[in-house]
Amino acid sequence: MNYAVIGSPVGHSLSPAMFNAVFKRMGLAHEYSAIRVSPEELGDFMDCVKKENIWGGFSVTIPHKENIVPILDSISDEARGIGAVNTVVVKDGKLAGYNTDWIGVKRAIEEVTDIAGKKVTIVGAGGAGAASLYAVLRSGGHPTVLNRTAEKAKRLVDRLMDGCGVKFGTKCAYGSLSDLENVETDILIQTTPIGMTPNEDDTIVPEDFLSSDMTVMDVVYNPHKTRLLLDAENAGCKLVFGYKMLLFQGVEQFKIWFGEDPDMKVMEGALLGKLL
Ligand code: NAP
Repeated sequence: MNYAVIGSPVGHSLSPAMFNAVFKRMGLAHEYSAIRVSPEELGDFMDCVKKENIWGGFSVTIPHKENIVPILDSISDEARGIGAVNTVVVKDGKLAGYNTDWIGVKRAIEEVTDIAGKKVTIVGAGGAGAASLYAVLRSGGHPTVLNRTAEKAKRLVDRLMDGCGVKFGTKCAYGSLSDLENVETDILIQTTPIGMTPNEDDTIVPEDFLSSDMTVMDVVYNPHKTRLLLDAENAGCKLVFGYKMLLFQGVEQFKIWFGEDPDMKVMEGALLGKLL
């Protein structure tokens, strides 16, 4: 069958390398490509997908993660809670949507430290911020969301705390970026594009905020070690690399599409081969 990441732009995506490597190693006769689909084309594209019997599923990226929701025939509880779909299964002419980004965040952090009971500061309130907040809430952490636009942080918190059908036994604070210095933090998750290539010298977190008892995750994976992670390393923090989120969300996609575990080391090797 055929699989693909759909979005715009998608030329930079590492998903084809990650999935084609694991298909080859596991002897699966599938192909994974990157297809640029504009917002105007999305509806017609998915209509064609339903009619052609060649598609097994899709990864969904910017700008379609939210817009694709009303086009789908069904959606998982997690995707509904987060308000975004990053995985589609095509079966019998029907489209089912899932979200694995939050599991990517959860597994990446829990490789390094527990989330349960920890104070977690999430910087950013966009798509990656929403997946991170859901991951922290589902893992029993105590989140604070800080965003350039504080109102957007409030909207995200209100929506996830009230609207996603799961009763979370915690409170969630929100604020603007200037509140960072007043927030106690065990785990920091950076979810804005700040520090991404070619702006590798930029960071949104002041160096003196970081201390050796913190775990710091940057969802930006290009460069591999962002300025934030370099500062965190110098401060003695535990580090969580952005590519781990990409890896673990892909592992979960594979499980949803094929009902079995992938060879994760091959997927990781393919990603690091592109990033290092
Ligand atoms: P998004 O939905 O557009 O959200 C962007 C967020 O960053 C918003 O909160 C925005 O604040 C904030 N922001 C943008 N520019 C800023 C600036 N100059 N100063 C301060 N805040 C700024 O984007 P997204 O989908 O969440 O993606 C964010 C980053 O995560 C991207 O670099 C993306 O590549 C990465 N990502 C990584 C993975 C992974 O697997 N590792 C997965 C998904 C995304 P406002 O609300 O104020 O605009």
